[in-house]
Amino acid sequence: MMPKLLLVEDEAPVREMLKFALADEDFEIIEAADAGEGFTLIRGQRPDLILLDWMLPGMSGVEFARRLKKDVSNRDIPIIMLTARAEEDDKVKGLQEADDYITKPFSTRELKARIQAVLRRTAPGGQQELIQVGALCLDSIGHKVTVQGEELDIGPTEFRLLHFFMTHPERVYTREQLLNNVWGQNVYVEERTVDVHIRRLRKALATAGYDRHVQTVRTVGYRFSTQV
Ligand code: CA
Repeated sequence: MMPKLLLVEDEAPVREMLKFALADEDFEIIEAADAGEGFTLIRGQRPDLILLDWMLPGMSGVEFARRLKKDVSNRDIPIIMLTARAEEDDKVKGLQEADDYITKPFSTRELKARIQAVLRRTAPGGQQELIQVGALCLDSIGHKVTVQGEELDIGPTEFRLLHFFMTHPERVYTREQLLNNVWGQNVYVEERTVDVHIRRLRKALATAGYDRHVQTVRTVGYRFSTQV
């Protein structure tokens, strides 16, 4: 079945732009111009994902998300918040309610990658078993990484790191964020440990030419890009 996306955005041109950007994807798109309309649509035809504008007239996107998360029957619908640069400081507040966010202006590629990643993470039955980027295939059940059937030699930490990257593409993570997400919140590891494992991961991927997907973002951290 086609995933159903609900756009909650008051500006018609932005809704049109989003629909145009997603036109070649197999999504059914429904749209609402404000929070009230959004809730009505959710009750009538439960979406698989909500693209939610931060700045809405009347009820803000954050408030919308908060209400949705209190609604037992709909709280598990994932939300990607659409924010503008000026609102960046408030992001932390909004992210507590959303599954991801994307900052305007964004590229079509980034939008699609985020949507796919959130749908994968929140799919019924939990994590998708096979995650693919080009010919690179991560098998989260069998715990192996292959390129065209050839298994790569990869350590357990590098495997977890790659899994995190492949399920969170196109986003820059600091070393601290990677430590929290891959090693766990309460583990004491020095930040430079991340660099060591990034090097090992790149080495493992280099044999198949996929090391270029693991990108260094100067002074910030690392990103996994699906396109190089
Ligand atoms: Ca708006």
